[in-house]
Amino acid sequence: MCYECGPATRRSFARFLAAGAGLTVLAACTPAAPSPAAVTASAGPTAETATVGQSPEAQSPTPSPSATLARQFSLDDPASQWVIVNKHRPLAPADYAPADLVRPAVAISAAGEAALLNSTTAAAAEALFAAAARDGVAMVLASGYRSYGTQVTTYNGYVAARGQADADTASARPGHSEHQTGWAFDIGDGGGACSFEPCFADQPAATWAKANAYRYGFVVRYPWMLHPITGYYYEPWHLRFVGVEAATDMAKRGIGTLEEYFGLEAAPAYP
Ligand SMILES: [Zn+2]
Repeated sequence: MCYECGPATRRSFARFLAAGAGLTVLAACTPAAPSPAAVTASAGPTAETATVGQSPEAQSPTPSPSATLARQFSLDDPASQWVIVNKHRPLAPADYAPADLVRPAVAISAAGEAALLNSTTAAAAEALFAAAARDGVAMVLASGYRSYGTQVTTYNGYVAARGQADADTASARPGHSEHQTGWAFDIGDGGGACSFEPCFADQPAATWAKANAYRYGFVVRYPWMLHPITGYYYEPWHLRFVGVEAATDMAKRGIGTLEEYFGLEAAPAYP
């Protein structure tokens, strides 16, 4: 999905086979996806912190939010803050574009359309970034909106160069990117040393976001070790707005993915 997230020149992708599953996944926004070695090396503290509240049972389908939170928004409408986009659930229409894209008043390292978010997400991002700043945490908007047209260009470039199978490990197919909705963005810390890298997970911006983003309506969309459900490796930088109520409910109940929260099937790969 990342390559909805940034310029191709920043990216080098690796394909991974999930152990035992023959499952090919990729980091949704990772220019350099975590290698198996890197995953192993960081499995200790990162896994421990990244899976707070996520019991093994949490990786199985869990009850829908109806138990504690009414189904308030569509899961299918791209303009809905609860829209679920993954490898099984393309956007409809595929070339959807938000009608209310704006540039949030936050520190931005992205250029062009990538500096934009839908208006609801932009307002929430402003609150999120301000709260981080109050805690002394530097946070920048590294990549926001990515249009269908941009995704077509990116994806087709990969197909031409490497074939579709490899392209699917390196770039979201057009119409399958959460960034296209305006509800998601990637954060950095302005330093850049770990931007879009596994080590970003241990940077203050990421640890702060993981602990506090729900207060402002965001979830870390691709948590550690839940790639068999989300289809993407851990991306501590990719935040998705779902609203304070749902994000808080997920945090309290220790539910790591939107798929589990809304009772949807896992989407490890394209059908
Ligand atoms: Zn992203």
